[in-house]
Amino acid sequence: MEPLLESIEGHTIRGLRRVGKRIAFGFDNGHWLVLHLMIAGRLHWKAAGAKLGRRNDLAAFDFPAGSLVLTEAGSKRRASLHLFRSDAEMETINPGGIEVFGSDLAAFRAALTAENRTLKRALTDPRILSGIGNAYSDEILHAAKLSPLQQTYKMNPEQWERLFAATLSTLQTWMDRLGAEAREKFPEKVTAFRKDMAVHGKFRQPCPRCGSPVQRIRYADNETDYCPTCQTGGKVLADRGLSRLLGADWPRTLDELEALRKK
Ligand SMILES: [Zn+2]
Repeated sequence: MEPLLESIEGHTIRGLRRVGKRIAFGFDNGHWLVLHLMIAGRLHWKAAGAKLGRRNDLAAFDFPAGSLVLTEAGSKRRASLHLFRSDAEMETINPGGIEVFGSDLAAFRAALTAENRTLKRALTDPRILSGIGNAYSDEILHAAKLSPLQQTYKMNPEQWERLFAATLSTLQTWMDRLGAEAREKFPEKVTAFRKDMAVHGKFRQPCPRCGSPVQRIRYADNETDYCPTCQTGGKVLADRGLSRLLGADWPRTLDELEALRKK
């Protein structure tokens, strides 16, 4: 297999980037090591020379000051590591969705309306938007007061403005919050379920805006949480039979979503 892992041994990391949902470490010889944690992958900072002995230990990256250890819980091995020789080679792994920061409303709208999609599907499709998953799409749609089943072809200009503003403010709020936590100490408790989230993971709990109980739609091994009062005009979206109703236009399994590549 080329390039060999040995080709980055002893080299200095000069850059750190996010590529979609992946973390990319850039080396002084132009190589990039790209890590995707998927659902259960985690990074831990240990004393230098950490040993890998436990079942969940997958890799250790030894630095002079400590070891960065990659673990993955559970029996499904989904986390991945790729090594590339150049920026161009690394780009082949990028699903190609636009970065919301640095895009304007017109570009955002164009990306989300390339095909008619439900908002839930469009927001979480890595070929449309970069780096937004199940949790933050729920939070964005709640902030925008839009239904996860809203079709992108049927949105008015005012709804587009609301969605774009909510996407930026939701992501910025969480980047600030999680960034501040990580500056204090290495983030060991990484989770998609946060106490301060409005609807994600809050099934049956009161919506922080209106107090209505948060509802959940389950589909395949994915789910979406929303407030009927704030987002769907009071309508509880049927859980059963949705697969038939939505057909292909719903995020299927996370694995399938992650496997999507730009064509
Ligand atoms: Zn509400």
